[in-house]
Amino acid sequence: MQIIDGKATAATIKAEIKEEVERLVAQGVRRPHLAAILVGHDGGSETYVKNKVLACEACGFESTLLRFEDTITEEELLAEVNRLNEDETVDGFIVQLPLPAHISEQSVIEAIDYRKDVDGFHPINVGRMAIGLPCYISATPRGIIELLKRYEIPTSGRKCVVLGRSNIVGKPMAQLMMQKEYGDSTVTVCHSRSANLKEECLQADIIIAAIGRPGFVTADMVKPGAVIIDVGTTRVPDATRKNGFRLSGDVDFENVAPLCSAITPVPGGVGPMTICMLMLNTLAAAKHEYYK
Ligand code: NAP
Repeated sequence: MQIIDGKATAATIKAEIKEEVERLVAQGVRRPHLAAILVGHDGGSETYVKNKVLACEACGFESTLLRFEDTITEEELLAEVNRLNEDETVDGFIVQLPLPAHISEQSVIEAIDYRKDVDGFHPINVGRMAIGLPCYISATPRGIIELLKRYEIPTSGRKCVVLGRSNIVGKPMAQLMMQKEYGDSTVTVCHSRSANLKEECLQADIIIAAIGRPGFVTADMVKPGAVIIDVGTTRVPDATRKNGFRLSGDVDFENVAPLCSAITPVPGGVGPMTICMLMLNTLAAAKHEYYK
């Protein structure tokens, strides 16, 4: 059984990005610049944004963090989005989700110029991804594709079960695993209404779990030799930890790992790759790789 080490892979990719950035800067090109909008003080969001700023430093990017109280109105936030759309010194930006309930996330996503939408959430990027055109691919599924590639895990013609159908993970993941250029797999998507989820999983060569239910995928659902990608990151109370919680994946790692051929741990699997792919998207934005 092989542990798929997302932390080490992400460190390698960040070093590759940094090398390219320094080469570009030496040629007189401006450093890539990522901006992030953070609304409110959600603990998880604070951590994610902090890690994104740190990743920018590691890659040699410039970063700008714009913070707003959760009393900001939708109109005010849309004005900030518009300002970033027009700021020529910003290559790409993200609006950290979730947003307060009084703000429509979809309106904010659609207000972002798709050419700066390095999260890959804008309908133009989602649509282009679905038909295989150059675009920003959302970071978590792209990170998983990159892990499978770098670990030389065969996917073509294999049966892949994706658990979860959210817009940011499950749906794009299933699309990419299906597409010839990426997974080239036979894909089944399961969700909370799937009647035969366990039977589907038992048939799978690759299971990608993205549902947010700690320990949901148990050993009796896994075919021996399968590859397991665990996207789940749920905060579970843990009094032994300084911060009072630990991160738990969707897979019962202890009992599933001995069965499978390769598995991602939580933490240290998919998570570090996600931020790394945001950096790759930002580099692509700075180079106008997908859009002129
Ligand atoms: P989400 O929007 O809550 O979607 C969860 C999906 O799982 C839904 O499609 C839901 O089905 C399905 N589901 C929930 N309970 C289920 C059950 N008992 N059986 C079968 N399907 C079930 O979550 P998300 O944003 O996709 O995130 C999923 C997990 O990945 C979370 O733990 C999140 O923290 C984590 N995550 C990690 C990263 C990373 O970088 N590591 C990035 C993003 C998300 P319905 O559609 O029927 O409701």
